[in-house]
Amino acid sequence: MIWIIAISTATAQTTGEEEVMPTHILPTDPAASKQIPEQEELRTLAAFHHPGAQAVSFCYSRHSFPDKSHHTEKVAIGKLVQDEVTKFRPGAVPELLSKDLNRILAMSDDIQRTPTLWRAVYACREQKIWREFDLPAPEEIALMSVSSRFSLVPLLAAIQSCRRYRAVLMESGKTRLFQIQGSEVQEITGKLSEGDLIRRSEDSRVGWSRRVDGNVEHQERAWFRLIVDELAKLPGGHGPGTLVVGCRDDMWGEARPYFAALENNTIMGRFHLPGFDMGAQEVLKEARPIFEQYQLDQYKDLLHAIDDDNGRGAHGLHAVLKALAAGKVQKMLLGDMTGQTANDCGECGRIQPELKNKCAFCRSSQLVPIPADEALVRLALAQKAEILHIPSVQEETFHGVAAMLRY
Ligand SMILES: [Zn+2]
Repeated sequence: MIWIIAISTATAQTTGEEEVMPTHILPTDPAASKQIPEQEELRTLAAFHHPGAQAVSFCYSRHSFPDKSHHTEKVAIGKLVQDEVTKFRPGAVPELLSKDLNRILAMSDDIQRTPTLWRAVYACREQKIWREFDLPAPEEIALMSVSSRFSLVPLLAAIQSCRRYRAVLMESGKTRLFQIQGSEVQEITGKLSEGDLIRRSEDSRVGWSRRVDGNVEHQERAWFRLIVDELAKLPGGHGPGTLVVGCRDDMWGEARPYFAALENNTIMGRFHLPGFDMGAQEVLKEARPIFEQYQLDQYKDLLHAIDDDNGRGAHGLHAVLKALAAGKVQKMLLGDMTGQTANDCGECGRIQPELKNKCAFCRSSQLVPIPADEALVRLALAQKAEILHIPSVQEETFHGVAAMLRY
């Protein structure tokens, strides 16, 4: 399953006065890597439904800072908690909920130390649930909700934003390999071979493609083939959209035909290499927009495919809910659904598009409007449909939902 990202364009900006937090470096020990929930765990959270339960969803991450004290995080988290407390009469906050809220407040110090980590907590003490996740997602978020269900859309978007990919830098028989996941970047050494090439390309006045003598040309071809072969053999090295290439324009002209051998649309794009010794953060800065653009293009292609296929395409909340109810959805494209609601039965927990007097399944009259995107992901997760969360990009926001059906 591929999870696609939600890009928040507003979060990337910092002013000269703001402190820019260093992004984290992935731990070298894979066992110590950040905890990202598995599909099974997400399905369990999505299926959680206890009438009258006080289930807390909390997500927090910050990437730009007005000052160095990091006081902002503590204030913001305190306010999120306070907003929930004030929904009760003074002194009437249920005891078990208070304990969960206090535990989240107690996390403030830790969050202040590493505010750029994307943290999520799903808790319901009454049902003995406490789940904590740390993701390297680059989006900012400050969210808390208390209801009989968990809010999963922000978590799904963050997971999609953390899909792993690689960047390879190439120059005159040398390569550097990086692994990127969200805002984390790590250089991987010892995976790709050095080429025994004459360093002719380092004379920028001459350029890579000039002055080719037969022997050098032969060496280059062999080296390109070798690198492509080694990249394809890396674990997961040939999946769609798993590689960004950093390479000078003139060299890429010659290397490109060899990289076409990487199957399944592996390469997401290329950037012109400003210097072979660039830092990991610079690599991330070049690679991330290519990753984001690739994801966006993937959604657009899928939207066109849905539009073109009258038999297998479904558009709009009503049609997609109906298809989900029938278990027919293969891929669901979720856009901005602000203001749209579906209805959750407080008794049996079934979701239905229309607000009628009674639940269509159990005849209960406890139908409650809930955010449409939460209703959709809950059903899609239950059916193991692929969810693609489309980010809001300034000029072109996709509103609503569309789905490609299995048949
Ligand atoms: Zn019902």
